[in-house]
Amino acid sequence: MTKRVLLLGTILLVGAAWACGGPPPAPDTGRKKLVIIGFDGMDPDLVREFMAAGQLPNFAKVIKTGGLYDLETTVSPESPTAWASFATGMNPGKHNIYDFLVRDAANYTPDLGMVTRTPPTFLWNWIPTSRPQIDTLRGGTSFWVTAGQAGVRSSILTVPVTFPPEDVPNGELLAGLPLPDIRGTMGTYHYYGTDVSRFEEGDSEMGGIVRRLVFDGGTARATFFGPPNPIVRVQLAALREKPQRTDADRTAIAELEATQDVTLPLTVTWTKGRSEADVDLGGQKMTLKVGEWSKWINLKFRINLFVSVEGMTQVHLRKADDDLQVYVSPVNWKPDAPPLPMSSPARLARDLYKSLGPFRTLGWSESTMPLDEERMTEATFMDDLYRAFDDRAQVILNRLTSGSWDLLVGVIEATDRVQHMMWRHRDTTHPSYTAEGAAEFGDAILRVYRRADQFIGEVLDQTGADTTLMIVSDHGFHSWRKAVNLNTWLVEQGFMVLKGQTMAADKTLADLFGGGGEYFEDVDWSRTRAYAMGLGQIYFNLRGREGQGIVSTGEEYRALADDLSKRLMASLVDPDTGTPIVTNVYKRDDVYAGEYLHNASDLQVGLADGYRVSWQTTLGGSPKGVMYSNMRKWSGDHGGYDFATTAGMLISSHPITVNSQGRANIIDIAPTVLQHFGVTAPAGIDGRILWK
Ligand SMILES: [Zn+2]
Repeated sequence: MTKRVLLLGTILLVGAAWACGGPPPAPDTGRKKLVIIGFDGMDPDLVREFMAAGQLPNFAKVIKTGGLYDLETTVSPESPTAWASFATGMNPGKHNIYDFLVRDAANYTPDLGMVTRTPPTFLWNWIPTSRPQIDTLRGGTSFWVTAGQAGVRSSILTVPVTFPPEDVPNGELLAGLPLPDIRGTMGTYHYYGTDVSRFEEGDSEMGGIVRRLVFDGGTARATFFGPPNPIVRVQLAALREKPQRTDADRTAIAELEATQDVTLPLTVTWTKGRSEADVDLGGQKMTLKVGEWSKWINLKFRINLFVSVEGMTQVHLRKADDDLQVYVSPVNWKPDAPPLPMSSPARLARDLYKSLGPFRTLGWSESTMPLDEERMTEATFMDDLYRAFDDRAQVILNRLTSGSWDLLVGVIEATDRVQHMMWRHRDTTHPSYTAEGAAEFGDAILRVYRRADQFIGEVLDQTGADTTLMIVSDHGFHSWRKAVNLNTWLVEQGFMVLKGQTMAADKTLADLFGGGGEYFEDVDWSRTRAYAMGLGQIYFNLRGREGQGIVSTGEEYRALADDLSKRLMASLVDPDTGTPIVTNVYKRDDVYAGEYLHNASDLQVGLADGYRVSWQTTLGGSPKGVMYSNMRKWSGDHGGYDFATTAGMLISSHPITVNSQGRANIIDIAPTVLQHFGVTAPAGIDGRILWK
């Protein structure tokens, strides 16, 4: 008993240590203030187009004293990679973030590319002895930390690749992507419908949980899936790691899998034809009309006597006529009771919650996946996207008006998400373009750009002429008309060899987050020289690095890089037109340099406008056929496209000097900010100072 009390005491102490914040911020230094507002994926060409039409008056106001520039992005042009270069002023070889995913070279398994996760530990599978831990993989030093060490006071808000939150000297930070939902995923939604077939039930490809509602006497009962039970997870992992599984092990795995999530009951009361329904989720009761969203509701998931986890969600009644459809958004962390710190100091999230009420905390906070899987209407998606925009915007305005900063950086991502989902409505050559769709949603992207412009107006109202303003985006955008199965092409060309004729089953995101998925299970590694994963990354099956590597370093490596690059450029063609679809192939040593070079892919494919790697390619799959028309709603993209044609944007109220291509580079922001505050940039920064 003494031991137990001691352990609990330790846990409480650890909790208390978390709760206190850092020292109070330094006093006003009288420095000229600098505000950077990021709009993820805002495309410079679209900005020019909309501005020429007079649609972005506040952007135009900022440009008057400075300018609008293309902002060269990273290889590959993806948010995690590009924002990490933004923060550090370094190429990915020095900060280690190359993609949303990384692979474990020992066993060819994909994992999240921004963090490592250490599960919590429990004594006797019961008493918690250590909390789960998440560590960032990002190397380098962010400019707000360097500036803070020199006394610059900063407020850093929802910038991608800032979870877990780092300590900022003289500053505060609210974490952004990849801050997960309560299940530890990028956002698991629930969808319940009377019209869900048995074949649709289960985990969807893009991270949804789909269940059928069966009414009996006006009531349907279903299960809502909360966080994985960490105790069961640990037991499962131990069994899965066994090299030889017995029948008893297999039975135990099946039993544990059935109880691995902490669940809540969901009860719906409704009769056919009634246009509203009563929903009870974990004891929280609500009546919803068709099309209506509930307010935020708080949920408590009890893991055992000692541990429970809190979260918040919203319920939406999509349909109630002959059929009933209920959607539940991913469970966000509660800012006043997060399972792990989500801000630095920890009290920042709590204080924001106190003054603003509930706001989205999920890193990826827009409903792209439910729309892509047609579990949400386009109108609902747009309505939800504006609310995601507003949540981020109100946090930024709250800190902006607090005035206790010299440097404020805030990022909003709704601009990226609306382009992913709505691009097909403005591209008349997109396979899923329709005149009706264009009539209703053809201006969806423009409207979100206008909302961004309006937000800049609100920022300008609060700052005044003595504040320097930069508006930054991390990459541009392209249409995605055809999907490319890159591994299938590698098989066709003889770089990858499969064991049999049978194709492995399609991968889902649940495989990735659940830790039980199998990858490349049909690949014969003894005869495979290259494999693709992530957004256009190709890895060689290198001896001494990959678990079953066969390619030697030196001459064989170089020959393979040359041969594969040439063939990608010449032979990977659109079967309908015969045109090559790869505009550039970037070799690792030509584009990256630094201490994390060994984690880079050996080649990065640069695809032409219109072509992106397939979803199955990202997880290493090799389905039949090299190319197919992209009929999905996710119809615009940037990852895996040629970075040379996917530049982001910089609007600066202060004039800058451009490089030989007439551009600035995303790695230039960090040294420029430091110079603005008279702070020496740390050694190893790759960018240059932009200020004229
Ligand atoms: Zn994106």
